[in-house]
Amino acid sequence: MEKRQYQVCTRCVMDTSDSVIKFDENGVCDHCKNFEESIKPNWHVDHLGKEKLDKIVDQVKKDGKGKDFDCIIGISGGIDSSYLLYYAKEVLGLRPLAFSVDTGWNLNVAVENIEKVVKGLGLELYTEIVNWNEMKDLQLAFFKSQVPYQDLPQDHVIFAALYNYAVKYKIKHVLTGGNFSTECIREPLEWVYQNDLRMIKDIHKKFGKKPLKTLPLTSMFKYKIYYRFVKGMKVHRPLDLIPYNKTEAINTLKEKFNYEPYANKHFESIFTRFYEGYWLVEKFGYDKRRAHFSSLISTGQLNRDVALRMLDNPPYDKTQAMRDLEYVCKKLGISKDEFLSIMKEDNKTYKGYKNSSKFIALGVKIAQFLGIEKRQYR
Ligand SMILES: [Zn+2]
Repeated sequence: MEKRQYQVCTRCVMDTSDSVIKFDENGVCDHCKNFEESIKPNWHVDHLGKEKLDKIVDQVKKDGKGKDFDCIIGISGGIDSSYLLYYAKEVLGLRPLAFSVDTGWNLNVAVENIEKVVKGLGLELYTEIVNWNEMKDLQLAFFKSQVPYQDLPQDHVIFAALYNYAVKYKIKHVLTGGNFSTECIREPLEWVYQNDLRMIKDIHKKFGKKPLKTLPLTSMFKYKIYYRFVKGMKVHRPLDLIPYNKTEAINTLKEKFNYEPYANKHFESIFTRFYEGYWLVEKFGYDKRRAHFSSLISTGQLNRDVALRMLDNPPYDKTQAMRDLEYVCKKLGISKDEFLSIMKEDNKTYKGYKNSSKFIALGVKIAQFLGIEKRQYR
């Protein structure tokens, strides 16, 4: 493929590391265009959002009458989910069950944050501990597969565990910390591919060694259709209906719970730190901070010049990267040399494996048609 000339958007900080990015005559990218035309006009944190949220809260309370919990919230120790847990209990008056998944990688600071917030709110926490040998086998298979998205196994397991639990224990309402405020500029599909069980299974079949017997998994069909339409599970994004500001959220959490923020979004795990800061950057040239900063710029929470200056520095320092590399290799049970030789092999994408991308694209088209999905998908 012909190498594109480098270009960075004049409004956000997305650039040609997104190989299909388009720019208009003013140098503004199609992510920005999508934000202005599709997200902003439909995103109401004023009285319209409040009315919508009031309705949801009434329904959640009604459905939860006589039950131990009226909703479930997956909590990672990150800002969005921690703030949501606080907001649901203290502001909305809901009775959530806090649900966390231990995939074997969480930093102590994340675990402590979860405990601080949950305890401070007087809530109950359920932690699902996944089978480490299976998790490890799947993650190693993913590295060997040469795809960029090394967080997919953990992400998949975490949300599958949450949804499976909610359905099993008949907790109808799932509240997620997903939000436009910090994620309105979506990472391109080539950086972060969706939860595709077909691809996960194919990669594991080719490179895995142990059968996945207990790992929580769920197909798109199961959670998008069966769980929602047959089991009646409802997923809400309350942070899109209120004025949600990252800095204010951190301050609230610090003040109320002595919460400790992380250096970067999603850096609550060593694995994520290593994969985002090293694997993605060194092997693929993708810097996820670009999408995150661009979201904050679009929503007026970050100055573009400041973002560009931060991007001039690597996501995390080399010494730390090398320490993390050793830690990750040791945990996965391979040598450093073995890992470095995996890293040198040719890059691949989901297209190199069996996948459901056509089905997913169709689902997104339907969701966009119904007005459920506003962000562009490409
Ligand atoms: Zn842009």
